[in-house]
Amino acid sequence: MDSQLSVVRDDGKEGRVRPPADPATLVHRDLLGGDWWRRIPAFAEVDEATFLDHRWQMKNTITRPEKLLAAVSGLASEAFLKDAAEGFRRAPMAVRVSPYMLSLIDWERPYEDPIRRQFIPTESTRLPDHPKLTFDSLGEQGDAPVPGLTHRYPDKALFLALDTCPVYCRFCTRSYAVGPDQEMVEKVSLKASPKRWEDIFAYVASRPELEDIVISGGDSWNLRASQIETLGDRLLGIPHVRRMRFASKGPAVMPQKVLSDDDWFRALVEVVKKGRAFGKDVMLHTHFNHPNEITEITRRAMQRLFSEGVHIRNQTVLQRGVNDDAQTQVLLARRCAWVNVHPYYVYQHDLVKGVEELRTTVATALELEKQVRGSTAGFNTPTFVVDAPGGGGKRDIHSYEHYDRTTGVSVYTAPSVKPGRFFLYFDPIDALPAEGQARWADRAQHQAMIDEALAAAGA
Ligand SMILES: *Cc1c(COP(=O)(O)O)cnc(C)c1O
Ligand code: SF4
Repeated sequence: MDSQLSVVRDDGKEGRVRPPADPATLVHRDLLGGDWWRRIPAFAEVDEATFLDHRWQMKNTITRPEKLLAAVSGLASEAFLKDAAEGFRRAPMAVRVSPYMLSLIDWERPYEDPIRRQFIPTESTRLPDHPKLTFDSLGEQGDAPVPGLTHRYPDKALFLALDTCPVYCRFCTRSYAVGPDQEMVEKVSLKASPKRWEDIFAYVASRPELEDIVISGGDSWNLRASQIETLGDRLLGIPHVRRMRFASKGPAVMPQKVLSDDDWFRALVEVVKKGRAFGKDVMLHTHFNHPNEITEITRRAMQRLFSEGVHIRNQTVLQRGVNDDAQTQVLLARRCAWVNVHPYYVYQHDLVKGVEELRTTVATALELEKQVRGSTAGFNTPTFVVDAPGGGGKRDIHSYEHYDRTTGVSVYTAPSVKPGRFFLYFDPIDALPAEGQARWADRAQHQAMIDEALAAAGA
């Protein structure tokens, strides 16, 4: 291997060792710092103290497409702005982009920019949805004994505590519940209501098998400090609950909150400390998708959490043109590790309306996993999973019973979750070989492709 040198060791034997790395290649440590946001005309006068204030970030978060596009007019081309305006008109998600996110986008190359692609749709790149896509493709509502609690796995449950987020992502799996109603979508209500929470606490208390509660939504960043305390007190007070996780995209999209919302920060730290005193594990789970989302501000925020004993894991969504190449995935894993965030999962993109251009094939995930594993510590190496449509839950991407790369149909089983059932995932059609695309173009072939895959899987 050319990265290793042949040397004669002290014992006289010849061996091969790595030469020292050129520090210039350790780019995962190069975090964006300074006052980069000032290159956005709307933020040209914003000083550091203001930019670090979470209240300023919240107040200046953009919720109307026209305002968003106006903020970057002069930076992005007219053609792009028109394309995005039309993209927004068709999008089934609400718009919410923080100044922090907006300032990290390279507006001179918006089509390629990995952050732009996650938040701002363009009409010209839109692809038709997969014919097998259904709303709530994960079947979270089907596995919900009480509204907003999904109890799918034996010992853990997902508590959808609220229905708002600090930003709204195009690719969100929970677009069935999160954010205000859009033209094309009727939402399910999962507001942070005391009555709904009481029903959930009662259910968790009534189920001795539940040891692990994921608090998501929506997003824990938008919980008030008093709500964090309530969730901590009530859930940690249930004897059989041993583990809790607060899930939030906040560290990736508004790390300022950790640095300046002292009430919220204290509330979270107190729940973690109380958990530790009870012998219970409380963690923060977050959602970085690209190394550009990790800046010097992130490092400071993660250090504040780490120094108080709050541990953080990261869940990434694999997206085309965002993080579907090995170099980006390796850089993301190593940069997360550099700021003490443990890479946990990389998710195959769910079947979600209006974002077919962001999905990748299962083959892509298989290849990426191969490249990432070995690039850093095993505990900082994410597991690549697919959340099996229809409620099978997360499966290791490699564990399919059958995968046809031509039709893009993969078949998974989940013996500990739904024994005896088979779950199908469908690659995006435009990424298939011509033969597969031709078969999907013919409606009469759809069921045949599924039947073939199920038969090959032994169903
Ligand atoms: C992801 C998820 C969990 C947590 O799963 P882990 O693999 O332990 O991270 C729990 N319940 C539901 C419904 C989920 O989707
Ligand atoms: S922050 Fe999470 S829950 Fe909220 S829109 Fe984004 S992906 Fe969905």
